[in-house]
Amino acid sequence: MDVSLLLDELNDKQREAVAAPNQNMLILAGAGSGKTRVLVHRVAWLIQVENLSPFGVLAVTFTNKAAKEMRSRVERLMSNTLHNMWIGTFHGLAHRLLRLHYEEAKLPQNFTIIDSDDQYRLIKRLIKALNLDEKHWPPKQIQWYINSNKDEGLRAAKVETFNDPNQTKMREIYQAYEDTCQRSGLVDFAELLLRCFETLRDNEALRQHYQKRFRAILVDEFQDTNNIQYAWLKLLSTKDNNMMIVGDDDQSIYGWRGANVKNISHFLSDFPNAQTVRLEQNYRSTSNILKAANAVIDNNSGRLGKELWTEGEDGEKIALYAGFNEIDEARFIVSRIQSFYEKGAALSECAILYRNNAQSRVLEEALLHQKLAYRIYGGLRFFERQEIKDALSYLRLISNPIDDAAFERVVNTPSRGLGDKTLTTIREYARQNNLSMWQAGQNMINEKRMKGRALNALASFYDLIIAMTNDTKDMLLHEQADAVIKTSGLYAMYQAEKGDKAQSRIENLQELVTAVKQFEIPEDAEEMPPLAAFLAHASLEAGEAQADVDQDAVQLMTIHTAKGLEFPLVVLAGVEEGMFPSNMSNEEPDKLEEERRLAYVGMTRAMQELVITYAETRRLYGQDKYHTISRFVREIPSDFIEEIRLRSQVSQPIHNRFSAQASHEALMDSGFNLGERVVHTKFGEGTVLNFEGQGEHGRVQVHFDDIGSKWLMLAYAKLQKC
Ligand code: ATP
Ligand code: MG
Repeated sequence: MDVSLLLDELNDKQREAVAAPNQNMLILAGAGSGKTRVLVHRVAWLIQVENLSPFGVLAVTFTNKAAKEMRSRVERLMSNTLHNMWIGTFHGLAHRLLRLHYEEAKLPQNFTIIDSDDQYRLIKRLIKALNLDEKHWPPKQIQWYINSNKDEGLRAAKVETFNDPNQTKMREIYQAYEDTCQRSGLVDFAELLLRCFETLRDNEALRQHYQKRFRAILVDEFQDTNNIQYAWLKLLSTKDNNMMIVGDDDQSIYGWRGANVKNISHFLSDFPNAQTVRLEQNYRSTSNILKAANAVIDNNSGRLGKELWTEGEDGEKIALYAGFNEIDEARFIVSRIQSFYEKGAALSECAILYRNNAQSRVLEEALLHQKLAYRIYGGLRFFERQEIKDALSYLRLISNPIDDAAFERVVNTPSRGLGDKTLTTIREYARQNNLSMWQAGQNMINEKRMKGRALNALASFYDLIIAMTNDTKDMLLHEQADAVIKTSGLYAMYQAEKGDKAQSRIENLQELVTAVKQFEIPEDAEEMPPLAAFLAHASLEAGEAQADVDQDAVQLMTIHTAKGLEFPLVVLAGVEEGMFPSNMSNEEPDKLEEERRLAYVGMTRAMQELVITYAETRRLYGQDKYHTISRFVREIPSDFIEEIRLRSQVSQPIHNRFSAQASHEALMDSGFNLGERVVHTKFGEGTVLNFEGQGEHGRVQVHFDDIGSKWLMLAYAKLQKC
């Protein structure tokens, strides 16, 4: 293979990093400067030129999507498929290691991963079982406490309580949680990392094996690693292997989840010989977009400092639009996308980014109305839905009967007449005898430790699970899923519920069977039983994307999710004080700076066009809130901004009198847009301000140039577009 291919299409600085001799390296550079590109080329270079086996590469990326992308880009560069190369997220890689070395990790072979909702429920039940009051011990807070301790590498036994009774109680709950998870073979996300770290730390032979194996360790988005992840990387590094870490302090956006941007400086002091390479040319965005983003991030203090420039054209100015309300905002966004699409772009080249998942609903409605296909990343993910979790819990019990979280979830779903009291007795028996719920229940049945009705109900549940396990063990995975959904009674339960919601739950259950059928066991899970592999996939990976991946569709996601990605057209929606920066960050300067970095990340996803929108009123929690434009927009010099004014004729401030939802429906069938210019035979020309009611009762408010505002019945007004 022609090696120059690996170095073509790189600038001098990038080339220096890709072809550097074996050494530890830090690539510190701003958005769009080709950091990820350097990482990909470096992997290919090491294999191709330095004759490193793919077996010796460990590459860590931020999402599974990025990992797949990296693998295929390296393969394309080398025109070769690569096996045995470990590329993945920290969580994915930790999981792989724990599966391979479950004994050293002191886990049962069929351990189950629980997501944060499972974790929350488990904690809630524990608080109850310990006879504590949820009001004093809010489960969410305890969950945060447990996870942040784990992120710092602290087990319950190691947590310092300073003899404070509150702290002591929290530690007690943490301990009870640890015990339950250990007994039930449950591993939460933070545990994956901590357990993997401990396993390597405490097993010298194993650690040496991986230290020898991984000659090259490469980490993308390093600014968002937390302490346990960095500790894990350090365990794997020796004087004989090398690390290349790649990051941008200005894009550190996971501080709220324990990420520590100081790891960049820790790296430099832990590896004093590491060479730092700075990349300064941006290849992604037009000059206007880049300068605007630079101007915003310039307001942060304590930056490591980077200059970014581009040879690219100025490009279009950033379009700024103020919606009357969130519905008007959504309609505007969709019309911008529509015209971008009509100019020949693909829908998938357009992204709508927002601060919170909840913002997607109104945008979805507007896209649906315009019949534009869209795909949401994150949000209420398929595998997090109630009915899907029910079905998965049955499958989990088959795979690992001592899984307490799954047991609790389905023991009385559908209802079998097992009351809270019975469950409490099982829970207590389990705790006293250090057994899983499954084992405890079994003993209680055998010893007839319950009254007749409850005993029968419980016994029938055991019969069901055992029969399910036996009857489905030789089936293909999707047949197994189908059988479980039906014999468990879940299907019938939702059928009996009726209504739209129940119907969509049934469709989702059917979709689950399809998802199982389409599931291909990834290379890194070949050593697992197929059911366990699928369940791990459902917890770890599948949430990233929704819907049909091949279809051309507008991309919707939070700014957090958009990290590392790029799109020709980016819309940042809901850029208002109180939303972005969020209310919660107002008081604390650190949080505000993290929000500003998030704004920087959002803006720098755009290649050709950036559109920023906000709504003057927004319906939140059932109330109309009046919002002002975000300070982040005000930090952009006005030279780079073009305000879009669809309602330039309106002289007075507009206050919506009606709820956003009602006007939304009216607007959908009126045929007019808010802000649109219209003409009336008697009153002359004006601008549409508001809607109310539907069909023949629909009314529209128009601000006429000559006579001011008027409400008119749509059915009689004979309004025409100008
Ligand atoms: P982020 O900080 O957002 O993760 P990044 O620094 O990782 O950005 P990349 O995604 O690697 O940047 O690159 C940004 C864009 O610039 C990509 O489309 C990439 O293909 C392109 N690019 C990078 N380097 C070059 C180059 N030398 N010549 C042409 N295009 C380049
Ligand atoms: Mg990148």
